[in-house]
Amino acid sequence: MRRMLCAGLVVLAVCGPTGTVVAETPTAVRVSMPTQPHPCLFLTPKEVLAVRARFQTEPWAKPIGEKVIKEADDLLATKPNIPHQGGQWGGWYSCEVCGVKLKARSPTEHVCPKCGKVYSGGIYDAVYVADRHSEYFRAAMDLALAYVLDPKPAYAQRVRDILAEYASFYRDLPLHDYRGSIGDKAFARGARLTAQTLDESGLLIRAARAYDLVYDASCFTDADRHAIETNLLRAMVTTIQRNPWGRLNWQSRHNAAILSAGLVLRDEQLVDQAVNDPKNGFLFQMREGVLESGMWYEGSIGYHYGALDSHIDFLEAACRAGMDLYSLPAVKKMFLAPLSLLMPDRTFPPLNDGGRSGIDKHRQVYEVAFRRYGDALFGQLVHPRDNIQALFWGADRAPERSSGQLVLPSQSGYAEGLAILRDPAGKTALYLDYFKSTTQHTQPVRLHVLLYAQGDIRFVDPATMQYGHPMHEGWGRQTFAHNTVVVNEEIQASSMGELKAFATGDDWAIARAEAAGAYKGVVLDRTVLMRHNVIADVFRCSADAESTFDLPLHFRDALSGLPAGEPLPRLSDKPAYREAKDVKRLTGPLGSFSVATGEGRRIYVTVFDKSEVFEARGYGNDLTDLVPMIVRRQKGKGAVFVAVYQLLEKGEEPLKPSAKISPTVVVSFGDTRLAVGDDTVVTIAGARHVAGAEGSPGK
Ligand SMILES: [Zn+2]
Repeated sequence: MRRMLCAGLVVLAVCGPTGTVVAETPTAVRVSMPTQPHPCLFLTPKEVLAVRARFQTEPWAKPIGEKVIKEADDLLATKPNIPHQGGQWGGWYSCEVCGVKLKARSPTEHVCPKCGKVYSGGIYDAVYVADRHSEYFRAAMDLALAYVLDPKPAYAQRVRDILAEYASFYRDLPLHDYRGSIGDKAFARGARLTAQTLDESGLLIRAARAYDLVYDASCFTDADRHAIETNLLRAMVTTIQRNPWGRLNWQSRHNAAILSAGLVLRDEQLVDQAVNDPKNGFLFQMREGVLESGMWYEGSIGYHYGALDSHIDFLEAACRAGMDLYSLPAVKKMFLAPLSLLMPDRTFPPLNDGGRSGIDKHRQVYEVAFRRYGDALFGQLVHPRDNIQALFWGADRAPERSSGQLVLPSQSGYAEGLAILRDPAGKTALYLDYFKSTTQHTQPVRLHVLLYAQGDIRFVDPATMQYGHPMHEGWGRQTFAHNTVVVNEEIQASSMGELKAFATGDDWAIARAEAAGAYKGVVLDRTVLMRHNVIADVFRCSADAESTFDLPLHFRDALSGLPAGEPLPRLSDKPAYREAKDVKRLTGPLGSFSVATGEGRRIYVTVFDKSEVFEARGYGNDLTDLVPMIVRRQKGKGAVFVAVYQLLEKGEEPLKPSAKISPTVVVSFGDTRLAVGDDTVVTIAGARHVAGAEGSPGK
């Protein structure tokens, strides 16, 4: 794995910094339409034969296909019971107490898997309805896939029945949005079967594909075709077209849906709109939505892959119509870019609206990448080959997955604004977020840090809750819930940071970033240095007016060695502050404390600033997961927070670091010295390095 991932990174280095994605992507291309009969969208007739042969002959493919057929047979054994009404947004579907997603026990009983509380009626029942629509469109697609493997008339008949039933009532459903507003009062983002054009687009992609795959089956009458094409596929396109949304991930799925319908209906105008619309089309999105690094601009790994999944739906359909857009550099970069963000355990850091998924969760993406590009790097990321994309869109054979640790270089991540410091052994990674884009999925947490060390995340970033839950805004999206400075107990303004210094040596890496727009009249300036198992953290703040500066740090594990504390009823009444539990004000100076990380290992934290210190507990993965936090507070027109974190193995004794604060901050440990003033200077064993911006080698 190491060798192969390094090979992938070489590719990144070659195509990353040279030229811009914008310049490489044309503003328009001539569209082409399918030259063969149906199917033309998900597979071509030639591919149908190839997939059938793969299913019969490749041992890895057999169980996937058998599962598809079994699911289709199970579907045939039950009669459809399609609700003829619109559904609601899944973001509402969470437990008020625990913040976790509910599970449906029946159409009117929705149960919290944590505390068992049962919700029913209104919005909950309506989310259930939307989920049923999703299931029926998925069922249509599952049946169509079974028909590809084994063209039994009953599979096609059931696809017809489902689509024809939806066509019989789709136009009668009122437009409605996630707030419940109906008809003319509904936001443009509202839809009919669901409350969002995003979700409606997902349904349309399935409907168009399923219809296309069974198109030639004898069960369809001309009247059926007319009804499905006019009253379902075209009508759904009309719903989606009400809501053009520029470069947002929603539009990525809109485009895939409009293209899918356009190709099946042989409507060149729709196809042209999906590809070339100058403010919404696929090419526009590649020019404006993909950062130079290849990351999607919305600032979260979840939305990167969310957009990429839609782009793949688009690219595959376009390819079968004769438009190979895989050759665009921006497209290939989208497959490669996330790899450089991985934590040592092959999961992604849950920054912004991220969530902690592993690269393996996205293996279906790399099935397509390997088939289309043939790069062995992509081939190694497809395992285990157990998914629909492997069987229907993958290659017959893929390279073996090799084991071994990921070893990735430190990087300044200049395009998106995320510096990553890594140790040479590939066990530790420190992320400094100075994000350069602001979207609804980037959080107001400039200069936030996330630490992966000793086998897990140690500075915690709270998990994203269901968007409709009040604590999504009340905790997760508050600055205080993260590991960066909060001024006057207020949330940071949505703002962009700037990299001030970045440099790496054989066994060290440093990044310094500044945020001048997070608070009016305040400059935040954070420097992190990693050398082997030691991290220095210098956070300097200055303000035009007297202010209160708080630096919270959230830990996964138990803390020890803290001075005694006196309990407080609450930290403050401000949002997020009021959610902190078990608050104590420490009565002695903080000095040093340990964070137990299991198996006798610990993080030994030495604090050099003379702050007022609070100990409390805040939310981690959900509202039942309370994790310890330390909040350091300083008041005045400026503040300086200085700490050293040592990652110690069992029985290992810490170094004795020292620090001098003001005006230049100097931190020393072993033969390492860090000076943070106007310049950023690292001295290693007497050799002096001045770090400049954007990874320049310095003076
Ligand atoms: Zn609950």
